[in-house]
Amino acid sequence: MKLKSIAALSVLVALAGCGATEDDAQSISGWGTGGSYDTDDLKRDMKQYATLVAKNPQVDNGLYTDKRGHMSTPYCVGQPAFDSEWFEVSRESGVSDDEMLYVTQLYEVALGQIAQALNVTKAEILTNAYRNKLGICIRNTKGSMASGHGSESVTVKKHNHGSDKFFHLIKHEITHLVNSQYNNNQVNLSILPGWYNEGIAEFAVGSRPLSAKEWNKQATEMESRSMNNNILDGGDSSFDDYDVFATIATYLDEQGWGHGAMTEFIKKDHWHMDDAPHTDGHDHMVLSNTPEQAYALFKEDFDNQSAESQGEVTSYDQFRSNYKDLIYQWLKNR
Ligand SMILES: [Zn+2]
Repeated sequence: MKLKSIAALSVLVALAGCGATEDDAQSISGWGTGGSYDTDDLKRDMKQYATLVAKNPQVDNGLYTDKRGHMSTPYCVGQPAFDSEWFEVSRESGVSDDEMLYVTQLYEVALGQIAQALNVTKAEILTNAYRNKLGICIRNTKGSMASGHGSESVTVKKHNHGSDKFFHLIKHEITHLVNSQYNNNQVNLSILPGWYNEGIAEFAVGSRPLSAKEWNKQATEMESRSMNNNILDGGDSSFDDYDVFATIATYLDEQGWGHGAMTEFIKKDHWHMDDAPHTDGHDHMVLSNTPEQAYALFKEDFDNQSAESQGEVTSYDQFRSNYKDLIYQWLKNR
């Protein structure tokens, strides 16, 4: 099986369409929100992170360092850096102090919610970040784009569709970073299967699964663009496919593995990097397995989770062969 697409998968997410105006409280779901959370709660939680301090000038001359992500390099590397509790932040010129603080507060709250859902401390998540801080590079643009993996996320300064959508985007990217941290992946390496990588991120922000009819239509169309006509094997995917990925992740959590299984799985997610943490610098290449070895380890963990869960998903090979029908039947009975 060819694995090229696993290394090349996209970590971007785009969102279209606005809800009501910014004045109305917008509902926010997903990990760590406790069921009835909205933008007013978000504003309250953001106030806990009201300060940014200039990075110590004795460290890297107080400047933002290269996280080897190559995403921030033209905009933030070498620029003055600022610290919040769990982030080192920098900005493209033209981003104001207020904008920088606002974006950082969203990241801090998102990280806290993910830690809460996983029932771990933030310190336990940040095992492979230089100075024990994740990087944020803020671009001087509006829009609905961000990216993130390794130990860094790059994001716009203002989201076109309001704080609820902006928070959704940032929490999605933070989920990628959490996954990277658990895999000793400090730098810009992304070799998780695309369906899992994007599925878990969309699942964490509470994206709803498709209807049975939509699933059949979108999954069939996507299979025609996938290697071996199988979504799990990867291939060309676009932002429209995130609903398919979210549906797969939600199925595994709710039905295939049993409720809560995805949070357990992400915590056991140590399948493709070496075991030694790398917190002493910012230029490590830590990939010790080939993509084939990484994929084999992913499958092994998937099999273990399947055996433990005793649900209708019994192994990776079984799921790979039957995912379309299993998910269709589940959606029909929902
Ligand atoms: Zn993503």
